[in-house]
Amino acid sequence: MNTHRTPRTLVIGAGYSGLMAALRLAPHVPVTLVDPVGHLTERIRLHEVAAGRPEAEVVHPLRRFLRHTRITHHTARATDLDPAARTVTLDTGLVLPYDRLVYALGSTTRLPAAHTERLFTAESAPALHKRLLDGPGRLAVVGGGLTGIETAAEIAERCGRDWQVRLLTSGGLAPGVSAKGRAHLHATLAALGVRVTEGARVDDPDAVDADVVVWSASMVPGTALAARAGLALNSLGRIDVDASRRSVSHPEIYVPGDAGGTQRMSCQAALPTGSRVASSILAEARGKAPDARPVAFVLQCVSLGRADGLVQSVRSDDSPRELTLTGKPAAFVKEQICRSTVRALALASRRPGALPAVPGLG
Ligand SMILES: Cc1cc2nc3c(=O)[nH]c(=O)nc-3n(C[C@H](O)[C@H](O)[C@H](O)COP(=O)(O)OP(=O)(O)OC[C@H]3O[C@@H](n4cnc5c(N)ncnc54)[C@H](O)[C@@H]3O)c2cc1C
Repeated sequence: MNTHRTPRTLVIGAGYSGLMAALRLAPHVPVTLVDPVGHLTERIRLHEVAAGRPEAEVVHPLRRFLRHTRITHHTARATDLDPAARTVTLDTGLVLPYDRLVYALGSTTRLPAAHTERLFTAESAPALHKRLLDGPGRLAVVGGGLTGIETAAEIAERCGRDWQVRLLTSGGLAPGVSAKGRAHLHATLAALGVRVTEGARVDDPDAVDADVVVWSASMVPGTALAARAGLALNSLGRIDVDASRRSVSHPEIYVPGDAGGTQRMSCQAALPTGSRVASSILAEARGKAPDARPVAFVLQCVSLGRADGLVQSVRSDDSPRELTLTGKPAAFVKEQICRSTVRALALASRRPGALPAVPGLG
């Protein structure tokens, strides 16, 4: 570090976690932010885009968050990380030095080995919607986790007149929710016309009897850059971190969000971990210990179209309790939670000092 008081901080990735970290750090230390995309996409709403919500409604220009700050944003992709030299190279050729690196490259859908043009993912939601306009037909969602369930429900609700929707999952539906919660998921999907097949493992999307296949089977962390640079990865292929979310092999690198740790990949963890790594970097610069509090999960929230949902109460380790909220009240709660993510980032932009007082973000 050049001085203990003003570490040059480089943030790669401007998703929920990286943007939150950058905004919280900006009043205190010089911050450079790197992301190839000039906007924040509300990734947690991509299933809504697939079903027909205009993409413009879930995309927010980064300048909206950055204009009140002194953050330098490079619209570029990080292509190389050299921890020995403490530099990151961009696809523009620029080499950026850092004292502290926030590695926030998140995750994407893990694609199967073979994929054809009838295969779509959350990342290709706008193209999927365009394809759905060319219905009628048969659509299969592969993956019985929360993202697959939300996708099947949303498409069935909005496009169910033209599209027969199936959901195929290798195990059981939503293994992380309670029996009561799962019963509600089954009942609501059935009412929306979604045919669920459990115990159906799909390795090759071409083997699925459908006109459109939406792949939601699992996520892959954005750790290729880290692996090439020699950062230690854990058994999940994510960056191995300590309680303060510092890389165990390279403690000058902090890893909020999906790219590191073992917690459920979620926006619910991305925002607090983004905020916490900022606190830790600032604490360290003041000669104090970094923030080692674990992120406590409170809820799992699933939208089931626009008029139904499941809010599942969980213990701090993310295991389900029996307490659930369903139906319209659950849909309302889920919508408020989705809105609160962009609101939290807007607050971090305008009044970063207020964040430590916000439950879950402090
Ligand atoms: C359809 C869907 C619904 C979801 N619903 C929920 C939900 O209801 N609740 C919940 O908690 N979670 C939900 N999630 C999960 C949630 O979206 C992710 O866990 C969250 O986005 C992770 O945030 P992140 O900041 O770690 O990374 P990301 O959001 O993945 O952001 C990563 C950023 O890194 C940038 N980037 C990538 N590569 C590079 C590079 N080489 N150089 C520079 N920048 C790069 C990307 O452009 C992106 O901006 C959902 C996900 C999907 C797909």
